[in-house]
Amino acid sequence: MAGCGLPRLEARMLLEQVLQKPRAWLLAHDLDPLDPALARRFGELAARRLAGEPMAYLVGEREFMGHRFAVNPDVLIPRPETELLVETGLAHLRALAAPRVLDLGTGSGAVAVSIALARPDAQVLATDASAAALAQARLNAQALGAANVRFALGDWFQALPAHEPPFDLIVSNPPYIAAGDAHLAQGDLRFEPRAALTDQADGLSALRAIVAGAGARLAPGAALWLEHGWDQGPAVRRLLAQAGLREPASLRDLAGIERISGAKL
Ligand code: GLN
Repeated sequence: MAGCGLPRLEARMLLEQVLQKPRAWLLAHDLDPLDPALARRFGELAARRLAGEPMAYLVGEREFMGHRFAVNPDVLIPRPETELLVETGLAHLRALAAPRVLDLGTGSGAVAVSIALARPDAQVLATDASAAALAQARLNAQALGAANVRFALGDWFQALPAHEPPFDLIVSNPPYIAAGDAHLAQGDLRFEPRAALTDQADGLSALRAIVAGAGARLAPGAALWLEHGWDQGPAVRRLLAQAGLREPASLRDLAGIERISGAKL
């Protein structure tokens, strides 16, 4: 493990993964010789990490809202800044009993399942255009004990079952990176599903489609909150206002960046 070329924390996380032992065990058995097969497995993971693969895919999970979400390359890795979307959504639901919630493009299910766990009385519907992503979201809902989430396959509002009543809250973290953005060729993003990151256009096309369809799916007084890129706040507020939604507003993440925008019907 020493001298494998990885930062100490990453090496420890990979070793925990290979040995399937928690940190306390590793500390207590620091000087035990490593079984050669396990050492080889560790070497393989370390090499993949050095070649750039995201830690979350190598260890198979990422923590979000205090829950451990299983992830694989079919789904975007949950980001800490997306917790603002969940917290803001939950704040809107505070005054409502048994609220109906829609999460469009759920990926790993991080947003939908976190809301469902925080509000066991809520009925959450989670959609994705990727069947593989939806399968992963379903696994996470099961593993984390969120029985109040349903799943639907398809593009944005087209995924919704017929006769679906209106929602009290719609949230989404859609692909919002513009085609050709240099970030797509950097870091973890190189390994994440393209369709979860970029609309292959100006970065606003998914946000436009969601805002355009939301009005018909929101209950009176319901809220729509969307995550977006660092410079998209003004454009998304404009879209919300043009769609006739009330009180368009943006909120900043911990880095001070306008990260989500929302409005009410
Ligand atoms: N927040 C991600 C990033 O910039 C992008 C996720 C998305 O497009 N929804 O790394």
